[in-house]
Amino acid sequence: MAAPRASEAAAFEYLERTLWPDGPICPHCGTVGRATKLEFSEPKKGKRGARLGLWKCNERECRKQFTVKVGTVFEHGRIPLHKMLQAVFLLCCSKKGCSSHQLHRILQITYKSAWFLSHRIREAMPDGTLAPMGGAGRIVEMDETAQGRIEGAPKQAHRGMGMGPHSVYVGPTRRIGA
Ligand SMILES: [Zn+2]
Repeated sequence: MAAPRASEAAAFEYLERTLWPDGPICPHCGTVGRATKLEFSEPKKGKRGARLGLWKCNERECRKQFTVKVGTVFEHGRIPLHKMLQAVFLLCCSKKGCSSHQLHRILQITYKSAWFLSHRIREAMPDGTLAPMGGAGRIVEMDETAQGRIEGAPKQAHRGMGMGPHSVYVGPTRRIGA
C-alpha cells in the first residue's frame, strides 16, 4: 500500500492538472501560471511547515499562498483530499449511488464525516461547481479494484484481514483523449 502522503500528493496533483490546465490560478488575484509550488515540510522549532499542495503567488502585489482546494467543494474539508476525491467518484460513478454508510465503511472515515461529505458533494453537483473530471469535454478512464469476500466464500476465511466485505477503491487511471 502506498504511504498516505504519497496518495495525498497524487490527489493534489490530479486536481491541479484537472482544474489548472494552463498553470496554477491564484484565487486571490486571478493571475494564471505565475505561482511557485512550495516544498512540503514538517513544522519544526517554531517554524510553520508548508502544507501539501501549497502554492505562492509571484505577483508583487499579491504574494499570497493558496492550494487548488480554494473555491472548490473540497476547501473546508478536514478529510484528506484523496478520500474526498474517492467519495466524488463513488457518488458520481457508481450506478446504484453510494450511501453515507457505504462511504463511511469504504473510506474509513466516521459516519458523521461521510454524511457531511456526501451532502457537500451532492450540493455541488447540480450547479456545476464540481468541474468535469479531467477537464471540460475530456474523457477519464476509471478503474476500480474490489477487495474482500468472494461471493459464496466462508466469512471466517477473511477474518482479521482488516478489510470490510466490500472494500472498493475507485480512481482515475489516466486521461484518455480530448
Ligand atoms: Zn495572487
